[in-house]
Amino acid sequence: MNKKPLIVGNWKMNPSSLVDSKKLLRKISQKVSKIKKATVVVCPPSLFLLGLKGDYKGSKISFGLQNISSEKAGAYTGEVSANMLSKAGGKFVILGHSERRAMGETDDTISKKIKLALSENLTPVICIGEKVRDTQGEYLLFLKTQISETLSSVSKRDLSKIIIAYEPVWAIGEGSRAMTPRDVHETVLFLRKTLSDIYGKKEAMETKFLYGGSVDFSNARAIMIDGDVDGFLVGRASLDADTFVRIIESTV
Ligand code: PEP
Repeated sequence: MNKKPLIVGNWKMNPSSLVDSKKLLRKISQKVSKIKKATVVVCPPSLFLLGLKGDYKGSKISFGLQNISSEKAGAYTGEVSANMLSKAGGKFVILGHSERRAMGETDDTISKKIKLALSENLTPVICIGEKVRDTQGEYLLFLKTQISETLSSVSKRDLSKIIIAYEPVWAIGEGSRAMTPRDVHETVLFLRKTLSDIYGKKEAMETKFLYGGSVDFSNARAIMIDGDVDGFLVGRASLDADTFVRIIESTV
């Protein structure tokens, strides 16, 4: 494949200890070192980031977090700032994940977070996705509004610094099924057209899209080739080193 794939592992609230996180990362790192062409990012729980990074200096794996604060600094109990992530050596941050949106995160809050991430030279991986697919195509209007409002703080110049993760919520997690490559392709085309109307055709065509939602080694290659995406945001399957690496291998 021509493009350099980007594979982001979202560990969510797993594994349960730093020791187990290190074990998982060691396995991934050993296998990934042989894969030249892909960019591999791991987003562990924030508490484990420094411990993991320390062990993997110079490795092929980049690090990110699953969220940052919408505030720059100060009295915000329990929060981690964009600046802290950047100083800790993180390069990426997942923003607007559906599980965070379900906890009350709004497009407006995500938009503030994107701005802060960019000001710290972090690459935001911004999640977009409909909860349900209706037969009347209402979900298209939902997606159009969601991507426009979530990206309201992103200028034309900054569009190339962000990554969109298209994650249909109904396809995420255990017991769900990934979208067909054809449907991924169609939806990404629609999202690109929406970006084109806002930012211009060239900028929209150059925007990187990931797909997320029940990606496995059995469906990754087809979605990558026929879905017109640049890589994947992987949840569950990123917690199994063999599976995660097989997904990465299938994209190169
Ligand atoms: C996710 O939560 O971002 C995700 C894609 O999860 P899964 O791969 O488990 O569907």
